[in-house]
Amino acid sequence: MKYISTRNNKKTFEFKDVFIKGLADDGGLFIPESLRKYSETEISSFKNLEYNDLAKKIISTFIGDFMSENDLSNIINKSYSVFRKKNVVNLIKVGDRSVLELFHGPTLAFKDVAMQLLGNFYEYYLNNENQKINIVVATSGDTGAAAIDAIKGKKNVNIFVLHPHNRVSSVQRKLMTTGKDENVFNIAINGNFDDCQNLVKSMFADKNFSNEIKMSGVNSINWARIIAQSVYYFYSYFLIEDKDTPINFSVPTGNFGDVYAGYLAKKMGLPINKLIVATNQNDILHRAISRGRYEVEKVAETISPSMDIQIASNFERLIYDLNNGDDSLTAKVMNDIKEKGKYKIDQEKLDKINTNFLSSKMSEDEILKTIELVYKKFNVVLDPHSAIGYGAFDKVNISGNNIVLATAHPCKFPDAIKNAIDLNAELPKELMYILDEKENYKIIDNNVDEVKKHIKERI
Ligand SMILES: *Cc1c(COP(=O)(O)O)cnc(C)c1O
Repeated sequence: MKYISTRNNKKTFEFKDVFIKGLADDGGLFIPESLRKYSETEISSFKNLEYNDLAKKIISTFIGDFMSENDLSNIINKSYSVFRKKNVVNLIKVGDRSVLELFHGPTLAFKDVAMQLLGNFYEYYLNNENQKINIVVATSGDTGAAAIDAIKGKKNVNIFVLHPHNRVSSVQRKLMTTGKDENVFNIAINGNFDDCQNLVKSMFADKNFSNEIKMSGVNSINWARIIAQSVYYFYSYFLIEDKDTPINFSVPTGNFGDVYAGYLAKKMGLPINKLIVATNQNDILHRAISRGRYEVEKVAETISPSMDIQIASNFERLIYDLNNGDDSLTAKVMNDIKEKGKYKIDQEKLDKINTNFLSSKMSEDEILKTIELVYKKFNVVLDPHSAIGYGAFDKVNISGNNIVLATAHPCKFPDAIKNAIDLNAELPKELMYILDEKENYKIIDNNVDEVKKHIKERI
C-alpha cells in the first residue's frame, strides 16, 4: 500500500515514512492512495477470529513490507499481552445499548490499544535502523500516559510529553509522571491542550530543529494509530448477534481520531450504519456536523479533559474525502481554517457527512446526570467521556444495535465520579502504587524556544 498527503497526492510514501513522520512535510495528513475494500464474504470470514488474529488480518494490508507477517504476528501478540482482557476489549450490555470497554490496557484508556503497538513498531524499526530518535507528543491527558508506557525503557528512543499544566486529572498526571525510566521526560505547559499541540506542530515545522533531534510524533494523527483502532470496530461488530438491525457506534470525540478509525472500517466494507461524534461543550465538531459550521472557539475546561479540544486535527482526512480527493482544495481549506479560524461546509458536503456521521453535545450537568442514571439503573460506572458517548444515543435518537465506545476507566476521573454518584472510583490493584509515588515533571511557559531548549539539554 502506498500513501499520499491530503495536501499533495502526487508524491507517494511507504508505511515506514508515514509511521515515523506522523505528519507530512507539507503539513497534510497521510492517507492510503487507495484502500482495500473487503467483500461481504471476506468480512464474514473474519467473524470468529480472536482479537489478535483479526488485528493481524486488518493491519497487515496497511504496512506493506515494513515487516514480515511473522514479525507482525509476534508484535501484535506481545503488544496485547499486557492487557487485562484476553481479547483486549470487552463488550457489555447496559440497558438498550452495548458498551465497548476499551480501557483494559496499562494506562486505563483506549489509547493503549494503538500505542502499545506503536511502541513495539518503534523498537522493531530502530533495531534495524541503528539511529536514535526523539518522540515529542502533546497530550490532553491520556495519549501521554499511553505513549510513555509504550516507549519507556526502549532503546534508541526518548519521549517528551507536553501536557497542559493543571488541566489533566491527578490520576492522569500520576500515570505519566511517576515512572523512573531515563528515556521519559514530562513537561507541563502553562496553557491548554491546543497550546501544547501548537508547540509540537511548530517544533516539527522548524526543520533545523526537528531534523537535528530526529523528531518523531505519535499524536492521534499518526496513521498507525488509526489502523490499530479500526480493529475494535470490526471485533465488536462481530459480537452483535442480530445483524438485521443496523449497527451504530457512538464515539466520545476530541481530535476525530477514534471516530475516523470507525469511518475507515466502514470504508473497508464493514457495514456500519452511523457513527455518532459525541462531544462535550467543546463542540466544534458538533457544530460542523449538524450545521456546517467548523469554527474555532475558546477551549473550555470540562470534566472530560481528554476531549477539551478546538482543533480536531484528523478532520482534515474527512475534508479531503469531501473534496473528492482534491489536494490543492484541501490545502486551501486548511489554510483558511488556520488564518480565519473557520470553515463553512456547504449543504452538499454536509449531506455527504450525514450519510456517515451524526453528532451531539453534552453539558457538564448532563454528563453527571448520565453517570448517575446509568449507575442507579444498571450498576455500571461510566467515566465522563464514556458517559458522553452513552448519552449521545438519546440525543440523536437513533434505533438499532447501538454500541458506545467506553474510552477510559472511571478511576482516571475520581472527582467527577465522586461528584456524580458519591463513589470512590478505585484504580485496579496493580496500579494503586502510583498514588504515593514521587512525581517528576517540569513546568514551562507556552514558549516554543524554551521548550526546544529544555529538550535539547536532555538529549
Ligand atoms: C483521547 C480521548 C478521547 C478522544 O479521542 P479522539 O481520537 O481524540 O477523538 C476520548 N476519550 C478519552 C478518554 C480519550 O483519552
